[in-house]
Amino acid sequence: MIVVMKNGAAREEIEKVTEGLVAQGMHVQINDGATCAVLGVLGDTYTVDKEKVSMMPGVERVLSVQEPYKKANRKFHPDDTVIRAGGVAVGGGMLTVMAGPCSVESREQLLGIAKDVSAAGAAVLRGGAFKPRSSPYAFQGLGEDGIGILCEVSRATGMPIVTEIMAPRYVELFDGNVDIIQVGARNMQNFDLLKELGKSKRPILLKRGLSNTIEEWLMSAEYIISAGNENVMLCERGIRTFETYTRNTLDISAIPAVKKLSHLPVVVDPSHAAGMYDMVEALSLAAIAAGADGLMIEVHNDPKRALCDGPQSLTPKAFAALMEKADLLCNAMKQRSAV
Ligand code: PEP
Ligand code: MN
Repeated sequence: MIVVMKNGAAREEIEKVTEGLVAQGMHVQINDGATCAVLGVLGDTYTVDKEKVSMMPGVERVLSVQEPYKKANRKFHPDDTVIRAGGVAVGGGMLTVMAGPCSVESREQLLGIAKDVSAAGAAVLRGGAFKPRSSPYAFQGLGEDGIGILCEVSRATGMPIVTEIMAPRYVELFDGNVDIIQVGARNMQNFDLLKELGKSKRPILLKRGLSNTIEEWLMSAEYIISAGNENVMLCERGIRTFETYTRNTLDISAIPAVKKLSHLPVVVDPSHAAGMYDMVEALSLAAIAAGADGLMIEVHNDPKRALCDGPQSLTPKAFAALMEKADLLCNAMKQRSAV
């Protein structure tokens, strides 16, 4: 249930409404929006006399929320959420670019790529240490050593890092070392992991599952937020369709859809969507045009020899060329600018 307060409602009026609802066993989240305050009410709201609440001083109207996600719902939080991670902001009209290799392979590899992507304008360094591979015989990532390398390179370059977590037992390790914790597509509905991440204060990048609907994706965000961590950004990375030419189908429409339904920032990963390096630039520009708050792009110094996802990785040179076009597009769209 939502209580929309009148524009200019007094603080005492907001408090009075809140106290009344809390006394009835409800949990109330007060969001001070740009024009008016919105109270998000959680609990068995069917027991609340909505007409009585709507007649209280300062109340504009009372609405019930049909969607199963509440805290991730834009009705609960009309303004865009802006998430801060290691000095970088995601959301609220900026384009934040995260780039780096699919997997951390060595200190030298990661440091070289980090310097290149940073010089081209990337704000966050990506790199997988724990890799979810379809084959048990494929490179599984450097694990804890990979996290150590990411931290070292982060200190050397000043770039915050984003890397994937695969199991609840690693939350403590990630919490202490990682700026943005990525939940991969394959773990979007690992509910134990989501609940554990709800206890962390670190920003979470929640990728959309391979075959999950937008509502299921937002419900996974709701798991994290309802467990106490409001710093969730969503990442569209392509979904499975009947089309097999591309690795996945980038769901561009998910960007405006999610931005309408939710206040959470939306990041787009064109690399895993396309699966081919030569489509990454087009999809990146399309994502910016559709309103994405960020991009996550795989970049490798020697894609042919990459231990994972070489075919979809850009060279640093191609990434720099893409960033120039992204900048032009951001400027053309006026209200956004590349970080
Ligand atoms: C990745 O970012 O390297 C990754 C494995 O992505 P996804 O979970 O989207 O497949
Ligand atoms: Mn990858």
